[in-house]
Amino acid sequence: MEKTIDIKEKAFTSTRNACKVCTPLGASIVFKGIEGCVPLIHGSQGCATYIRRYLISHYKEPVDIASTNFSEETAIFGGEKNLFIAIENVTKQYNPKIIGIATTCLSEVIGDDMRKIIHKYKTEHDTNIPELVFVNTPSFMGTHINGFHDTVTSIVAAFASNTENRESINIFPGFLSPADLQHLKEILTDVAIDAIMVPDYSDILDNEYTGEYEKLPKGGTTIKELKQTACAKASLEFGYILNKSNPQTQSAAEYLKTAFDIPRVNLNIPIGIKATDALFDALEKITNNKTPEKYTKQRGKLIDAYVDGHKYVFGKKAVVYGEEDFVVAMISFLEEIGIETVLCASGGNSGLLKEVIQEKVQPKSDINIHDNFDFEEIATVCKELKPDIIIGNSKGYYIARELGIPLARVGFPIHDRLGGSRIKHIGYEGTQALFDLIANTLIQQMQDHSPVGYKYM
Ligand code: SF4
Repeated sequence: MEKTIDIKEKAFTSTRNACKVCTPLGASIVFKGIEGCVPLIHGSQGCATYIRRYLISHYKEPVDIASTNFSEETAIFGGEKNLFIAIENVTKQYNPKIIGIATTCLSEVIGDDMRKIIHKYKTEHDTNIPELVFVNTPSFMGTHINGFHDTVTSIVAAFASNTENRESINIFPGFLSPADLQHLKEILTDVAIDAIMVPDYSDILDNEYTGEYEKLPKGGTTIKELKQTACAKASLEFGYILNKSNPQTQSAAEYLKTAFDIPRVNLNIPIGIKATDALFDALEKITNNKTPEKYTKQRGKLIDAYVDGHKYVFGKKAVVYGEEDFVVAMISFLEEIGIETVLCASGGNSGLLKEVIQEKVQPKSDINIHDNFDFEEIATVCKELKPDIIIGNSKGYYIARELGIPLARVGFPIHDRLGGSRIKHIGYEGTQALFDLIANTLIQQMQDHSPVGYKYM
């Protein structure tokens, strides 16, 4: 059993190398997953440029993000004038269906009343303007995940209205990779479910080469679908913590339950056999359709791979970091394959991480679980616990390099490798890819550090 480390005795109280990203970045990803939507960041140029640069580096796709371009004057007198000009410019240049407006630290600190400003714009202009949706995303009060989930709720609340009978289900997958969303759509098609996925950036952030720059790439959840979220048979939502760092906020599925009495099914992110089984069970219950044989075969092959790779992974120690719901799902998978998580860390600060892991994962051994953690704190704990593998995004590379521990790159962001958008984590197929990645990373470490150049491992 691992000893639990009390990192609260640390020397620093400031955040150094944050294990989280800024809140409007999460909002921008959601807006990119809505058809014909342009994200507009209400703040200074630097915020939009940072978000744009960050997303392009991970997704390797053009990511247009507009800015209301705050100056010193705006910071004193408010951003209304700039917002009006920005809406005009974005409308002229993109002709979007929706402009998704996310606030920044600066506009939140000066206290721009977004609801009032947007209402004023709408009343002063004719009806021939794009839909305007806004979300409050102060970065000093959350992470990219709060921005992500708050935006999903805002956009659903803005449009959900159609109450005619429909046999669809809503899927709120949370912050997954485009490859995960593509796989989820494949599953839903195979199970013969008419599903509305919010957001759907499966193509937009993993697009084909056309030789032409597309201002508004094809794809994304449509306005019609957003309206129909109000009349689904059920809402399926992945993740237990979601945007619960603020107890006042609702997730999109919670909003639809409250406003339209749509049943909410809340599941772990389907990483690993147990969590993926729960997804297929839920789909069977909702639709009465049997899980197609294709997936029972994938499941069987995955179990076979677990057996084959058992000797390489069993008993190894891992450090896992990332978004709170992501690490919960990851630990559940690692428990399944016999890897002991010695540290689970997140920059998220819901205060729920420990409780959710204990309740939903029920790990076999004690885990050092820390939310509101930064990479310097992760490095300190890694030095003491000496894990065999680090599992997380590329921001932890410098720790892996310094300590000579291999890093299995998963999640977001991946800034130092190609294919971040193509990493598949979910379903039996995604779990298979993760299992191979983790097992092979451990094998390579053994091979590289052996005095003998073994060709068989
Ligand atoms: S100032 Fe705030 S909103 Fe802007 S980039 Fe920094 S953290 Fe994000």
